[in-house]
Order: sequence, then structure tokens, then C-alpha cells
Amino acid sequence: METLFKPSPPALLTTSIPYSSLKTPFLHPFLKTPPRKNHHKAPKTNKFTSFLELEPISNPKPLNFDIPWFNPSDRPSFDVIIIGTGPAGLRLAEQVSKNGIKVCCIDPSPLSMWPNNYGVWVDEFESLGLEDCLDKIWPMACVHVNDHKTKYLGRAYGRVSRKELKLNLLSKCVANSVKFHKAKAWKIEHEEFESFIACDDGTEFKASLIVDASGFTSSFIEYDKPRNDGFQIAHGILAEVDDHPFDLDKVVLMDFRDSHLGNEPYLRARNSRFPTFLYAMPFDSNLVFLEETSLVSRPVLSYMEVKKRMVARLRHLGIRVRAIIEDEKCLIPMGGPLPRIPQNVMAMGGNSGIVHPATGYTVARAMALAPILAESIIECLGSTRMIRGTPLYHKAWNGLWPLERRCTREFYRFGMETLLKLDLDGTRSFFNAFFDLDPHYWQGFLSSRLSLGELFMLGFSLFGHGSNSSRFDLVTKCPSPLVKMMGNIALEAI
Ligand SMILES: Cc1cc2nc3c(=O)[nH]c(=O)nc-3n(C[C@H](O)[C@H](O)[C@H](O)COP(=O)(O)OP(=O)(O)OC[C@H]3O[C@@H](n4cnc5c(N)ncnc54)[C@H](O)[C@@H]3O)c2cc1C
Repeated sequence: METLFKPSPPALLTTSIPYSSLKTPFLHPFLKTPPRKNHHKAPKTNKFTSFLELEPISNPKPLNFDIPWFNPSDRPSFDVIIIGTGPAGLRLAEQVSKNGIKVCCIDPSPLSMWPNNYGVWVDEFESLGLEDCLDKIWPMACVHVNDHKTKYLGRAYGRVSRKELKLNLLSKCVANSVKFHKAKAWKIEHEEFESFIACDDGTEFKASLIVDASGFTSSFIEYDKPRNDGFQIAHGILAEVDDHPFDLDKVVLMDFRDSHLGNEPYLRARNSRFPTFLYAMPFDSNLVFLEETSLVSRPVLSYMEVKKRMVARLRHLGIRVRAIIEDEKCLIPMGGPLPRIPQNVMAMGGNSGIVHPATGYTVARAMALAPILAESIIECLGSTRMIRGTPLYHKAWNGLWPLERRCTREFYRFGMETLLKLDLDGTRSFFNAFFDLDPHYWQGFLSSRLSLGELFMLGFSLFGHGSNSSRFDLVTKCPSPLVKMMGNIALEAI
């Protein structure tokens, strides 16, 4: 089922070019002179007052779109109730309602604009027919491994238009007669063939299946293993700037340079152990989305520290923020154990284990997996077969998490555990080797579309491409995550 994606990804254009010879105007006037000891003293003027003092100016209005609301005088009984109208909940709602299955979505604000800025690989959305829901495409991506090496990746990247994607999914829901109720789901109870849900406004519903798509903070999903999630933490701003040094045709996927911390010994030492990078989407010469990101940490890196590093980085790059249009605090739990399989409530989206354990990417995967989960639900609740209760829960959970997908997830978790052990130098060497791999492997890894066999091939190939220090890291730091992964795969297979 993972083969929803195209088997032959676009060609990779990976080159290693010394930083100093790049055409990219990273050599902002501020950086033209070689760094001196007191280099960072100059900007402590009003001109570079920290952007953290600015308040976001945008105040997104709810979508002006007609949706069919649940009428309290109607029967409060549905085939499927979905908690949450984020990307995952709405995608599942439009898919599962296709075959006449009665669906109701509950959310405190079903028409609100989604708050997060979503980036995806363009081929992922193209393969799902959702390319119209991207509002900006960068033909290439780049990775600054360090001050001397930049890799160019010939894979297009896009920013999701939250408005277009939400309208797309909502209009399909409306066409399939999905109902909406504006409230917070509060309590769920189960009988043999039905579940009951109470909302904070006093409304009660019953359904054959309740799907919790309420995101990372969900309280309805149970785990039978200790939670040992890693966390991606990031501070992002969509900013109006005087100027910026980024090429407009490239998204900056990761900038691991750390020269901005030259005069900040404490921050530099911490960054050497727990690295963060800059992720940047340049829209035009004055508008850019900037996000300082800790790929994964456990325990989670301090949010204040991430922000301080970002202030130092923007100052060093000579980026003066005139106004902040939006800001976001990104906190993504990644790579913990899967929820208990099966359980009476089904999960979809951020709380269902589908978050990529090593990158945090979720949106494209939710778009790809919702139709697969919907298929399993339709098989049970569709007009010809009325399978409810325990067999329905089994079918739904195993539809989302068949054995092969659970095993490949163990490999991605191994990827996360490896990254957790690497310092800045180790992380740089890792990505240097990673983006040298055959595009089929690095693209497939980032899009969760490799089979278990391909993932092992990727592991061997990464070892082969790695520098001596990178191999040393893998040999000395990875045995315990490797043994754990093999044990977990064996347990899954039993
Ligand atoms: C800041 C940020 C940036 C991210 N950027 C990316 C990215 O670039 N690319 C990517 O692939 N992934 C990204 N992610 C990860 C992931 O894709 C998002 O978190 C995504 O929003 C998850 O979708 P979801 O539908 O599962 O949950 P959410 O988008 O969180 O939606 C959950 C919905 O449930 C509702 N809800 C919550 N509790 C209840 C309740 N009790 N009753 C009823 N409704 C409830 C909420 O109001 C919300 O509407 C990002 C995450 C964050 C936090």
C-alpha cells in the first residue's frame, strides 16, 4: 500500500561546493569582512533589536464556507464520529464518507484556519492529486552541511496552502453529506457494538466507530508501553524583512552552519552537543518563513534556547525583521511507541504513530494513509457488511498498521535514536552521507515509502558513504538502538 508514491523519484542534483564560492548572496555586507574577535559587538544597536520583541500582526479569520451543521433535533447516531478537523480528521472524513457512511466531525472551531505552516515534497502531493493545494513551490532544496559545504537537492518542495487544502477537504465532505458539530469532545464510553461521546456543550452522540484525530494532545488514545518520545522543537516566523540572503528558487531545508555563535561560547557549546538548524522558505526578497529547529531531542531542548540561537543567527545573516506576520511554536512528539493495537477508539494523524520518527513530517503521510484506513472502515461498515465492535476495531487498527508498516516504523525509530546520539559534527557527517545516497533511498526515507529490505539497504549504503568519523559514530553509538530495533521487529513478527 505504501506504493501510492511514484517508484522513480526525480533526479538528484547533489553537489558539494565550498561555501565561499557560492553564487548565493549569503555574503551579506555584514559578513563581507572576515570575522574578527569583536565581530558581534557592532549589531547591538537598535537596527538589530531582536525580533522576539515583535508581536505577530496577522489575525486569521475563520473560513467563510457553508458546512452542514448537526441539528440537535436530528438523531445523534452516526456510523463514524471523527474528533478534530485538522488535516488528518478532514481527510479521513472525506474518504470514509464516500460510500454512504454517515460521518460527523466534532471540533471546537471547524472553520478556523489551521495554525501551522506546512511544508511537503511536491511529488508527495502530486501523487495524491493535491498539487493545487500548494501555494509556493521551490524547484530545489539546499542543505548547508557546514560553512564550507552545501548540497543542492533536485527535489521540489512546496508550502501547503492551508486555505486551499482545508477548502478542498471541506467541500468533498459537504458533497458526501458529512455533518459538523462545534464543540470539544469530552468523554467517550463503549458498549459491545457502539460507542458514546459526550461534548462540553452537553451534546451526546453515538457511533459504531469513534476516530480520534485531535492531534498530539489527544487524551483518548491508550498506550501499553512506556512513552519515550523524542521531540522536535522549533520557533518559526513568517516575517517581512528588509533583505535576506536566500535564493528564491531554493528552500533551505537545513542550515547547520554555526559561525553565528562565534561570540556566544555557552550557546556554541550547547549547539555543538544539541544542534539546531535553520529552515527557510523564501517567498520574495522581503518575505520569508524562518524556523530555528531542533530536529529531535530527548528531553526536549529549551524553547528559550532555540529562540536565542535564532536571534544570533538572523543577526549574523544580517536579516532585519520589520514585522512578524505569523509565528509558531512547533513541538512534535516523535518516535515513541505505537498506541495499543487494537483499542476501541481509532486514532488518525498526530496521535496515531504516523508522524515520521526521524523528521516529524506528518501531513503528506496523513493524506496518503487516510484513504487506506477509510477502506478498512468501509469494508466493515459499508452497506453489504455490518462488522462492528471488536472485529471492526481490529480491522481499522490493522488497516492503518499492518505488520510491514509496523516493522518499517521500527527502522525509522532506529533512525531517530541514532540522531539523538549525534552531536553537531556527527549530525553533519550523517546528513553529508545521507544526501549522497541514491535519491531513491534518501527521498524514500524522508517520505516513509521504503520497504524494510530497502531500509536495510539504505543502512548499509549509508555506512559505505560515511566518513571514518561517521562510521565510528555508527559503530560506537548505534549498537544498542540497533539491538532494540531488531528485538522490536522480532516481537512484531511473532
Ligand atoms: C508548528 C508545527 C509545524 C508543523 N509543520 C509541519 C510541516 O511542515 N510538515 C509536516 O508534514 N508536518 C508538520 N507538522 C506536524 C503535523 O503535520 C501537524 O501537527 C498537523 O497539524 C497534524 O495534523 P492533525 O490533523 O493530526 O492534528 P491538528 O492539526 O493538531 O488538528 C487537531 C484538531 O483537533 C481539534 N481538537 C483537539 N482536541 C479536541 C477535542 N477534545 N474535541 C474536538 N476537537 C479537538 C483541534 O481544535 C484541531 O482542529 C507541524 C506541527 C507543528 C506543531
